[in-house]
Amino acid sequence: MTTFDLFIIGAGSGGVACARRAASYGAKVGIAEARRVGGTCVIRGCVPKKLMHYGAHFGEALADARAYGWQIGERPPLDFEALCRARNQEIDRLNGIYIDMLKKAGVELFTGRARVQPRWSGDGFVVAVGEHEIHTRRILVAVGAHPSLPEIDGIEHAMTSDEVLEQVYPLPRRLVVVGAGYIGVEFASIFRALGADTTLVLRGDLPLRGFEEDLRRHLTDEMRAHGLKIQPDTRVERIERTSDGFALHTNRGVIACDRVIYATGRAPIPNTRGIGLEDLGVRMSDIGVIQVDRGYASNVKGIFAVGDCSDHGGHGLGAAQFDLTPVAIAEGRALAEAQFNDNPQTVAYETIPTAVFALPQASSVGLSEARARSLGYDVTIYRTRFRPMVHTLTGGSGRTMMKLVVDKASDRVLGCHMVGEDAAEIIQGFAVALTAGATKAVFDATVALHPTAAEEFVTMY
Ligand code: NDP
Repeated sequence: MTTFDLFIIGAGSGGVACARRAASYGAKVGIAEARRVGGTCVIRGCVPKKLMHYGAHFGEALADARAYGWQIGERPPLDFEALCRARNQEIDRLNGIYIDMLKKAGVELFTGRARVQPRWSGDGFVVAVGEHEIHTRRILVAVGAHPSLPEIDGIEHAMTSDEVLEQVYPLPRRLVVVGAGYIGVEFASIFRALGADTTLVLRGDLPLRGFEEDLRRHLTDEMRAHGLKIQPDTRVERIERTSDGFALHTNRGVIACDRVIYATGRAPIPNTRGIGLEDLGVRMSDIGVIQVDRGYASNVKGIFAVGDCSDHGGHGLGAAQFDLTPVAIAEGRALAEAQFNDNPQTVAYETIPTAVFALPQASSVGLSEARARSLGYDVTIYRTRFRPMVHTLTGGSGRTMMKLVVDKASDRVLGCHMVGEDAAEIIQGFAVALTAGATKAVFDATVALHPTAAEEFVTMY
């Protein structure tokens, strides 16, 4: 029987990245996946969401086009189910590509739910996947997370991001989205732009807790200007099925709708529980997050974890959370480098760029003003708000917001934040600058690229 050098549980972003990198150094690698290869990001997360975001932005672009001479009459009808089907076809294609990538890398794929056995083999661990018994020297747990739902009456009527991004269904006429983190804000914004009468319900005062305050306020104003109803300080007590849809009973009254989407966070349970990790004594939080060190090692020698199902205690450094695809990929690769190439690497957690694909987009890298101050920095703030050039002809009321947080002592730029068109594309380059430790003087010395929105980041004074 072969003994694997590394057996990975979960073929999502972190697992696949680690598998391919480890195999490239000659390691014998196996990987188990219970659902579809590609994980949350590819199958039911970032990729299908971005396709729907593209779909949503055309509504406004078509209207704007009139101001540029395009003879477009009434808003053309949207075949939403066609969008869902086209999205799903692309996801099927990507799923196939991921399977091929693993095959080409020489990684053996096992389909089914893996269970770590409560006994050790001579060489390490024993893992069962269906009828297969696998022996391995190391285990990487990269099982990601699942939507987590509060226990309220009628919660079974709610859709989660899994169903929103995997199923084909008619565009709801009246939609309520509960929860205002990344997923809630993105979905509410996308469905509003697609034409649904959408209400975003949040228990706090502003969406996107943890993000830069100016970004949260500006994005809230912009989303409202795009017709999204935002209802803060609201707690849903129960969801009731009615003759024409659902009634959400809240502390602030009843909201009627055709569909309810819950986006109230994600947790590794049930993927990390009941797969044998507790029997081996792997330390986990009460929501199933595996506690690891900076080398992604759990407290049980030979068992590692990366991505959304793990925590190495380094979170809380920046403005936003780090349960993000590129983070899982970077962690998976760093683990493979350390274990199979004797090349320990550090993931640059301080300067992880992140974007919320709302309409308009919001993006950030580095520290928020509040976070910087709480860490003891004395900061100078640079802020700008302006009308994007496209609206000079359309007369649109949208405004772009940009903000820099600069450390007075060292002149280092600690944070860049933006709300506006292409915010996600723009922030990636500034993440390079922050990772390189750029100062405000370096920003000032950089010649602007005109006419763009991005140039404002190097012309603020
Ligand atoms: P988040 O943790 O980002 O947000 C959860 C939201 O739900 C918050 O607004 C929270 O409110 C609210 N909430 C939590 N519990 C309840 C409850 N019981 N009742 C009402 N509201 C509640 O989770 P998401 O589900 O939005 O996203 C999960 C993760 O997926 C993100 O952390 C991110 O890492 C990743 N992601 C990244 C994307 C990107 O990079 N663009 C896109 C989508 C997801 P409060 O703030 O008050 O706690």
